[in-house]
Amino acid sequence: MKDVVIIGAGPAGLAAATVCRQHDLDVTVIDEFSKSGGRLLGQLHEEPTGEWWNGIKEATEMTEEAKALHTDIRLGLSVHHIEKRADSYAVHTNKGTIPAKTVLIATGAAESAAPIPGWTLRGVMSIGAAQVMTNVHRVKVGEKGIVVGVNVLSAAIARELQLAGVDLHSMALPAMNVVSGDEAHPKKVMEKLVRIAHLAPSAFIKFGSKFAKAAFVRHIALQFFPKSGVKMWDMPIHLRKAIKEINGSDKVESVTMVDVKPNGEIVPGSEEIIEVDFVCIAGGLYPLGELAAPLGCPFVYQEELGGHVPIHNEKMETPLEGVYVAGNITGIESAKVAREQGKVAGYSILSYIKQDQASQAELAAAMESVRETRDQATIQFHPHIQTGRQQVHESFEKLTK
Ligand SMILES: Cc1cc2nc3c(=O)[nH]c(=O)nc-3n(C[C@H](O)[C@H](O)[C@H](O)COP(=O)(O)OP(=O)(O)OC[C@H]3O[C@@H](n4cnc5c(N)ncnc54)[C@H](O)[C@@H]3O)c2cc1C
Repeated sequence: MKDVVIIGAGPAGLAAATVCRQHDLDVTVIDEFSKSGGRLLGQLHEEPTGEWWNGIKEATEMTEEAKALHTDIRLGLSVHHIEKRADSYAVHTNKGTIPAKTVLIATGAAESAAPIPGWTLRGVMSIGAAQVMTNVHRVKVGEKGIVVGVNVLSAAIARELQLAGVDLHSMALPAMNVVSGDEAHPKKVMEKLVRIAHLAPSAFIKFGSKFAKAAFVRHIALQFFPKSGVKMWDMPIHLRKAIKEINGSDKVESVTMVDVKPNGEIVPGSEEIIEVDFVCIAGGLYPLGELAAPLGCPFVYQEELGGHVPIHNEKMETPLEGVYVAGNITGIESAKVAREQGKVAGYSILSYIKQDQASQAELAAAMESVRETRDQATIQFHPHIQTGRQQVHESFEKLTK
């Protein structure tokens, strides 16, 4: 029986594995992808200091550190179910079952679908898929494309595509439809960007901060938002234009772009055809908690964290004894925060398995490091993260007292 099975070899899972192996726990890390590193593998961005965050390098270093400690990392294995047994867990994979005293679920995040007419055509992909094809598989996604959806993630990935030499016409909102929600509402998109403006390295998001002072000013800013968009790295970002439809017979040939009012309403007669051969849709991220739910782990909806998250405390414990969570499954944040949360989970598991107090100081230091990393994060996907975190921890206290 394993001391711990860790599901997910992203920054959270690898960091936890390293802590556990440093203290001689018997650890197995499982990931369904063929490489370890999780979403780190696609990341490349410039920090405000001018330094580059190279996710592949980070993933390689973390993997090597874990491997140097003889960590059992099994790739290409999918976990489809976790079963509670008398005093242990059975982790069911597509290649057999692994029994474990404890389980850490570090499965990360998934992209929200954002359907628009024509989105099933060949050449339409999620922004994350474009990131993986470009930065992980080194495949050029097309000759000229457009990004539908303006948020922190799409801005970061659009820049990565540009750096890889992929030609992007612009970024624009999705046109309002029954499922598009706030992502199609220029004022709400602007508000989200403005609240995180101080964190962003990009010229575009800093541009938004000029209007951060008052709602009235934000409204005015949108009224006057230039029709040609603002430019980030020479690429127009449109908050007053939206993509209504993707056109083509069996693959993407063009998109229909329309002008929109500050409330997202389409301006009649403003249709314009833009020729592109690929479209990236950016609907945002949500925590991937699907393995924790059937296990009986209670969830809470927390908008600041990106959706439904398993209830947990600051030590990354869930109310189920022996089940831990870390990384984006607990809320959408940057890779650096996920890594620090993984360390916390590692020390929590250690103190549970060894049933001693020896690791308490290290656990406290790791929790402090999560808070500091969060405060200094360059990429913050949602405003008010700290409030969201606090509320989830309070839910844990209520449930377990
Ligand atoms: C498309 C996308 C792009 C992102 N881009 C950025 C970015 O540019 N910058 C940034 O800071 N953050 C980005 N993020 C956020 C990113 O999730 C975090 O930065 C960080 O990687 C989260 O770490 P994690 O360990 O929680 O999860 P991840 O890094 O997502 O790792 C989770 C791992 O779990 C594995 N897994 C999931 N379910 C199973 C299962 N059932 N069985 C086996 N294995 C499983 C996955 O294959 C994955 O490797 C992005 C997220 C997504 C989804």
